[in-house]
Amino acid sequence: MSLQQPSSTQTDMISIVIPIYNEEEVLPQLYTRLLAATASWDHPVEIIFVDDGSSDTSASIIKDLSFGRSNVRLVQFSRNFGHQAAVSAGIGEAQGAAVILMDGDLQDPPEVLIRFIEKWREGFDVVYAIRTKRKENLFKRAAYKLFYRLMNRISKLDIPLDSGDFCLIDRKVVDVLLELPENIRFVRGLRTYVGFRQTGLRYERDRRAAGAPKYSYRKLYTLALDGIFGFSLMPLRIASYMGLIIAIPSFLLGIFFIIHRIFDFKLLGYSPTDTPGLASLATGIFFLGGVTLIILGIIGEYLGRIYIEVKRRPPFVIKEIWSGKEAEKKS
Ligand code: UDP
Ligand code: MG
Repeated sequence: MSLQQPSSTQTDMISIVIPIYNEEEVLPQLYTRLLAATASWDHPVEIIFVDDGSSDTSASIIKDLSFGRSNVRLVQFSRNFGHQAAVSAGIGEAQGAAVILMDGDLQDPPEVLIRFIEKWREGFDVVYAIRTKRKENLFKRAAYKLFYRLMNRISKLDIPLDSGDFCLIDRKVVDVLLELPENIRFVRGLRTYVGFRQTGLRYERDRRAAGAPKYSYRKLYTLALDGIFGFSLMPLRIASYMGLIIAIPSFLLGIFFIIHRIFDFKLLGYSPTDTPGLASLATGIFFLGGVTLIILGIIGEYLGRIYIEVKRRPPFVIKEIWSGKEAEKKS
């Protein structure tokens, strides 16, 4: 991976990483609430915005708002690489002793961050947020619920139910995350994978403060597939399970057909010599054809991911890293 290791780590500094994709409507509000919430912390704070190739004025708004603030940096991608890539880049840029990941749409309220820090001070290495209430539409809520429960069943990892990327991670966990070589970054899965002392904090997830969701259904679907295929081999096993389920009755049925043919007796008014048996043959072929295609698709999902990984392309390309401090010097 091309995540750069930070040059130095400050012992008590807290980094806040925020991925931004076309969030111009929310940014001023986010900024105000973030500054208000962090003002009372007795830790130095740095804020790292990662602009994931926004096509609106998000980048210039961030620059205007952070003008002269040496603790704010903006990492700009060369195009839209996706939320997980943006979070990963932010982690790579962060220099704090703890790194907080939060969304830029104020669904993750900055006011609860202090509770994360308290847990961290108690000695936890990962403090992840658990959403008790989601203010989203029914379909999305149901899909999320189903996804997390399915993930837990089919993956050896117990990714905490209803926890997203909103979390605080200690420097030693950050360093391990940066070492993980994979290109497809399902951050909450990787975070669970690395272990250390983890705990969950319950919070109520707010509605997005302004603007439309930037995660399209397609992106969410891809994220779900990355989670499932990246952290479970169960789908591959489905092939053998289905094979077994189909093969055993088919074998018994085959024996029955042979006996039926040899003795040529009438069963339910039917004798094997009466009809050529097209219907049973056709259904069998279609059914098995369908099953084979599904299994091929599943194998394809893994193959595609293996292909992406072996190419070793970086998960994102950084165009520019801007700092509030430089802005002050230049002006
Ligand atoms: N985001 C991003 N790149 C994307 C999509 C989203 O960086 O391609 C950011 C977005 O700006 C926000 C966060 O990821 O800060 C979560 O996105 P969103 O609120 O749209 O997701 P949802 O809350 O609907 O799951
Ligand atoms: Mg959101």
